[in-house]
Amino acid sequence: MPHLILSDIHANLEALEAVLVDAGPVDNVIFLGDLVGYGPNPNEVVELVRALPDLTALVGNHDLAALGEVDIELFNPVAARAARWTTEQLSAENAQYLASLPPRGVSHDFYLAHASPRDPVWEYLEDGRQGPPNFRLFPNAAALVGHTHVPRIFDEIEAEAPSRVYGARHGDTIRLQGPRRILNPGGVGQPRDGDPRAAYALLEDDRFTFRRVPYPIEETQRKIEDAGLPHELAARLAYGL
Ligand code: ZN
Repeated sequence: MPHLILSDIHANLEALEAVLVDAGPVDNVIFLGDLVGYGPNPNEVVELVRALPDLTALVGNHDLAALGEVDIELFNPVAARAARWTTEQLSAENAQYLASLPPRGVSHDFYLAHASPRDPVWEYLEDGRQGPPNFRLFPNAAALVGHTHVPRIFDEIEAEAPSRVYGARHGDTIRLQGPRRILNPGGVGQPRDGDPRAAYALLEDDRFTFRRVPYPIEETQRKIEDAGLPHELAARLAYGL
């Protein structure tokens, strides 16, 4: 059975449920951080992810903000409002669980970081020039990251050369042979590549497959509005930006 690779769920229960149905039975789960922040169901999402089989989970910058462990002033006003709301909602037990998670790790020979190997909490990996200083920091054939909410692949070219960077669409499969790679499955709960469908990846043998799945966005939007969270957070889900 495959490994399920998830990142950036952001308290979007409908997106998470759609991904779990689409993925089917899996052996184990790697979660790359940001369970909460932005979305309306922080406790439900934490509890559902905690119950997944053989889980390796990281903490993300929005999880740390909800715990009061990073300066909320680093966030834009909309994200900061959502972080304060999330802090009020989180049960003590779920907050304790988030506080127990590391921002980087290793699972099944993959190096894991929420944002990047160099800065596991904050760096947005987008440009090939960010490749060399990050590839240098892990020995594994591949690293898995989240944080940008964009499905993306970095191929190491040679030690000092900028990496080759390219995006991935639904159904694209990468064989994990050849160059060392940094792979981002995209965001489950708030995609940002213009495709509003939830993004995730499945890994089976050496095949890493990017997947997208539709979910009832209007339902999540309604919950965001009902919770009094910023309207922009509901609106952006429809555009996937
Ligand atoms: Zn995120």
